[in-house]
Amino acid sequence: MGIYDECGVVGIYGAQNAAALSYFALTSLQHRGQESAGIAVSDGTKIVLHKDMGLVSDVFEIGHFEKLNGSIAVGHVRYATAGGRTIENAQPFMNSFKNGSIALAHNGQLVNHTKLHELLEDNGSTFSSTSDSEVILKLIVRKYIENGGKLGSPNDSNSNEAEKQKRFIEAVKEAVQEIKGSFALTIMTEELLIGVRDPNGIRPLCLGVLGAEPLGEGVAEKAAGVCSEGKTFPSYIITSESCAIDAVNGQFLRDVEPGEIVVINKKGLQSIKYAQEKKRTCIFEYVYFARPDSVIDGISVQEARYKMGEVLAQESPVDADIVIGVPDSGLGAAQGYARASGVPYGMGIIKNKYIGRTFIAPTQAERENMVFVKLNAIRSDLEGKRVIVIDDSIVRGTTSRRLVQILRRAGAKEVHFRVSSPPVKFPCYLGIDTPSKNELISSTHELEAIRQEIGADSLAFISLDGMLKALGEDAFCKGCFCGLYPV
Ligand code: 5GP
Ligand code: MG
Repeated sequence: MGIYDECGVVGIYGAQNAAALSYFALTSLQHRGQESAGIAVSDGTKIVLHKDMGLVSDVFEIGHFEKLNGSIAVGHVRYATAGGRTIENAQPFMNSFKNGSIALAHNGQLVNHTKLHELLEDNGSTFSSTSDSEVILKLIVRKYIENGGKLGSPNDSNSNEAEKQKRFIEAVKEAVQEIKGSFALTIMTEELLIGVRDPNGIRPLCLGVLGAEPLGEGVAEKAAGVCSEGKTFPSYIITSESCAIDAVNGQFLRDVEPGEIVVINKKGLQSIKYAQEKKRTCIFEYVYFARPDSVIDGISVQEARYKMGEVLAQESPVDADIVIGVPDSGLGAAQGYARASGVPYGMGIIKNKYIGRTFIAPTQAERENMVFVKLNAIRSDLEGKRVIVIDDSIVRGTTSRRLVQILRRAGAKEVHFRVSSPPVKFPCYLGIDTPSKNELISSTHELEAIRQEIGADSLAFISLDGMLKALGEDAFCKGCFCGLYPV
């Protein structure tokens, strides 16, 4: 059975307490993965790694930070896609060899990892996990060793640091040109931090600075110009979502571009463009994954959700007394719907703060009952009323079916279900690992059948065109809605 996936990554460069900052950043990315967490940190001579199963706050205790000294770090929170849910697959992955160590954190999913895994194994690489992310790490190591012939002695103890770094950066560039799929990576050695975004920018990745004076206008230009201007910022952060930059009181500079490698070392920041493809960011980031306070590729997630709700109200109006949203990701669209329709917005549903995202429940039966634990209706908001309820998506139909029951149980006279994304009809191969096609209710059922199945008085989804109108552009991977994928 498919398990939903997202991961969050962070990289810190040049901050004394890199591990602690990573911890805070990962905590603010916890919504992207709750299965395992880890941080690798370098003190300039060696990398130390701590990772385990569980939430960030479970995995790390105060004592751990005494051992996690250093100013460069990468961190990861994980949900499973390729590879099982075991500690072996927890990230970051680390590889030590005689020339040094590499640690890597990956959000996304490769589509050619099986082939690469075989090729690497045939050439003597060994693997400790079934994760596609370890394939990236081993490919970089392989390229690095191979490049020894071209760029210097493979025995780095004899070659200087600059040459070693040059060879490493070249290895990363060659490796990411061979992998196919979606990837946002943070990679470190003892001396440098690298961020990479896949050629289509399917998974988000952004860049910020820490501990700098307020930068004001032209921040991104200044950051890009660090080398040419000879100016360097004291410390940097590379991470999946801008909310993590805020969490460490940093300043957002810009998104890492699709097909871009960002290298940060003593000399400052260097950008390498390794691919020229169209931007195709995952549209589901805006629907569900990302936090509303994040801005991805210049689009505010919350603003996008308001607009989706507004468009939905225009496309599928209905007479009602109250509009409510399903927390958390349905709230923005509900507010937009209320604004555009004039129907008053109300709370109506409360979500238990101490429960993770429902899909952690392993069986369908458990998942269904988890909804009762996770969500409840506020009777005084709903009794005797005609209710419009907005959720961001219907995937299996589990949440919506239970929710309609909950709303009726609390006295709702009518329940009109509105969904701020189009029907999810196709599985995702690029990091979301939606259930197989026959588990997707919109793949197996027509609209009226879904309405009956969930027991609503009416049901409507936003149109794909309407959603693109809300987002203001069409530079997205929409594979889950239309079955066409960029890779
Ligand atoms: P369903 O219950 O129909 O299978 O899923 C739809 C509900 O799950 C919506 O409330 C939506 O917010 C949420 N959802 C959508 N995508 C994901 C995901 O990838 N993971 C988790 N845990 N929930 C999701
Ligand atoms: Mg939800």
